[in-house]
Amino acid sequence: MSVFDELVGQQHIITSLQSAVAAAASGEESQEMTHAWVFTGPPGSGRSRAAVAFAAALICPSGGCGTCVDCRTAIAGGHADVEIIATEGLSIKIDEVRDLLARVSWAPSVGGWRVVVMEDADRLTESAANALLKAIEEPGTRTVWLLCAPTLHDVLPTIRSRCRHLQLRTPSAADVAAVLARRDGISPAMADFAARASQGHIGRARHLALDESIRSRRSTIMKLPFTLADTASAFKAAATLVDLAAEEAKAQAEVKDESESTELAQAWGQGATGRGMATGGSKALKELEKEQKSRTTRMIRDSLDGALLDLATLYRDVMMVQSGITDILINQDCINEISALAQRIAPEATVEKINSIMSARTNLSYNAAPLLTIEALMCALA
Ligand SMILES: [Zn+2]
Repeated sequence: MSVFDELVGQQHIITSLQSAVAAAASGEESQEMTHAWVFTGPPGSGRSRAAVAFAAALICPSGGCGTCVDCRTAIAGGHADVEIIATEGLSIKIDEVRDLLARVSWAPSVGGWRVVVMEDADRLTESAANALLKAIEEPGTRTVWLLCAPTLHDVLPTIRSRCRHLQLRTPSAADVAAVLARRDGISPAMADFAARASQGHIGRARHLALDESIRSRRSTIMKLPFTLADTASAFKAAATLVDLAAEEAKAQAEVKDESESTELAQAWGQGATGRGMATGGSKALKELEKEQKSRTTRMIRDSLDGALLDLATLYRDVMMVQSGITDILINQDCINEISALAQRIAPEATVEKINSIMSARTNLSYNAAPLLTIEALMCALA
């Protein structure tokens, strides 16, 4: 067993990581080990999982056995020498980086290394990135920086030029299905459906396989293109899509919001003396609420983006059918509707529709109003 077992379809980077771990353990200067790394890969390919596994392997006395207390606490996010920075907001600001640098300036408590995993290095503001850069450049440090981002271009040039780059691949549907069956005990048929539908996004595949409400929401969304006949139906479909995306995001956000608010209020003494929070507590709570609001906005946008990607796979399947291929459809469950649509529209129109979906995604990423964007899209699809 090894901490790297959980990485799906990433054998090409595991080899580099293992030689880095071996070099780090030897204590000698070597090309294989360096202090700053960037892990990139499409959403769901497991870039932060890979970074955390590497962190565990660096502090584990046996190079990442996956079973010792160091490995297990590192992976669970509770090891004193492994700091995992997961951002919920839209950006990582300079104050957060300064706090982080103050925390990690101490020598490692247990092993030879202190490791920081930054899950969303693409959200560093420029000033935050510059503060971080100074720490990365510091010679002789025992801190290893593992930065994660969707692509190398999302990381500021000054930072990425100091880091070694590892690119994760999108795992194949078969790889994802196998891991769902093995790790989560999901039936092969369900694992296969979820792996195809989520196109190599392991986390999404897992949720889809395990949560009936997510499956039913997805199936409603996937039926929308077949309801499009005129402008009225396009507007109705747009409203449904935006509502469902918001519903999914809010359901996730509420759970987090509530536990955070309770925790913060308790930290400020609420409930302890029966007198409510200490001075400063309500200000802190207001700040938290502001952050939570920005997170919900982001989650709604992410959820809408996921729905659009799903819709794009539907038209991709239509294109497949139009080219005479029917055995590798992503949405095998809608095969009849897809075939009917393939008969009704010209292949060029299918390409145009996929392009419309992709431009809607781009517009949303530039903060375009969601409902307006989706209305325009649905009219283009109708
Ligand atoms: Zn271990």
